[in-house]
Amino acid sequence: MSRFLSEKFASLAPYVPGEQPRDMKYLKLNTNESPFPPSKKVIEVINADNAAYLRLYPDPTGHDLVEALSEVYKLPAENIYVTGGSDEALYYAFLAYCDEKTPVVFPEVSYGFYPVLADLLGIKAKRIPLREGFRLEPEDYYDAGGTVVIANPNAPTGRAIGLDAIREICRRNENNVVVIDEAYVDFGAESAVRLLPECPNLLVVQTFSKSRCLAGARIGFSAAAPDMIEDLVKLKFSINPYDLTRLSIDAGAAAVRDVEYFDECRGKIISARKYTTEALRATGFEVIDSMTNFLFASPVVMSGEEFYLEMKKRGVLVRYFGTEKTKNYVRITIGAREDMERFCAVASQVVKEAGK
Ligand SMILES: *Cc1c(COP(=O)(O)O)cnc(C)c1O
Repeated sequence: MSRFLSEKFASLAPYVPGEQPRDMKYLKLNTNESPFPPSKKVIEVINADNAAYLRLYPDPTGHDLVEALSEVYKLPAENIYVTGGSDEALYYAFLAYCDEKTPVVFPEVSYGFYPVLADLLGIKAKRIPLREGFRLEPEDYYDAGGTVVIANPNAPTGRAIGLDAIREICRRNENNVVVIDEAYVDFGAESAVRLLPECPNLLVVQTFSKSRCLAGARIGFSAAAPDMIEDLVKLKFSINPYDLTRLSIDAGAAAVRDVEYFDECRGKIISARKYTTEALRATGFEVIDSMTNFLFASPVVMSGEEFYLEMKKRGVLVRYFGTEKTKNYVRITIGAREDMERFCAVASQVVKEAGK
């Protein structure tokens, strides 16, 4: 740290992203990316002709992408805005709807970026413990006394709540915003976008990084009532209006419109998830039923960290979280079927050796 850094950031602990090894020798199951390439329609628009336009600034409203989202989600364009990844959308949401008087309220075990954002912005964070088996109890969020942020399905647990529960959380917090982070919704949960007409305090955040095979393009979008979208766009235009590149806007629009490929990819993930869940359970793992493209699982005979280290030695990367509540678990991204067969074979060997 230099002596020039503002005092307010002296103790800031930044988010620690999963490893992105430069060589591709690992089977990478640690950051919930898609094992599949983007849609062919995406590859078609990222061409030399289009790249020549990079001399021009992109459209700060991302109009073409908003239009594609509007068509596919059957939602007026005024309910949507786009950002450079959904982490950025979360930043604008915290900035817009939390302050000294309004804390942020989120589950104790959830996405590690939430406490970092709260810390960065000097916002109080109220962490609600999950119930037995990492279950999220909707009642625990009634009259929460702040901006509620829930990842649904939750990460890293993989568990989801239903739309009735989300509707009720919105109703019971009518004077505060409820943010539903749907990074994994396409792998088995139901999107709260449908609730927008009845929930004026609901903000839904989604990403192209997982189910749309575009983590490297940095695309996110948010859906909410038009007055809230206005708030958020005001902040975006005050910080980084050109957050999405021209290529990302075009790639995003092409990806959203290729519904067939999207369904094919998520179908393959859901089926590989079922295979992996069963294979791991047969090996003695405790596995939580997942609605996402990852599994939260405990090897039982060893800690999450030990398992992670042993797997890494054998060329497989998974993610572990060293907190008290999660230290016996690892998070395993679901890859293609062949990847998961290899993963299960190596995992089975590792726990067998540890159990001896
Ligand atoms: C991956 C993830 C995000 C962020 O995705 P971006 O790549 O920034 O769009 C947001 N929330 C959760 C819960 C995630 O797992």
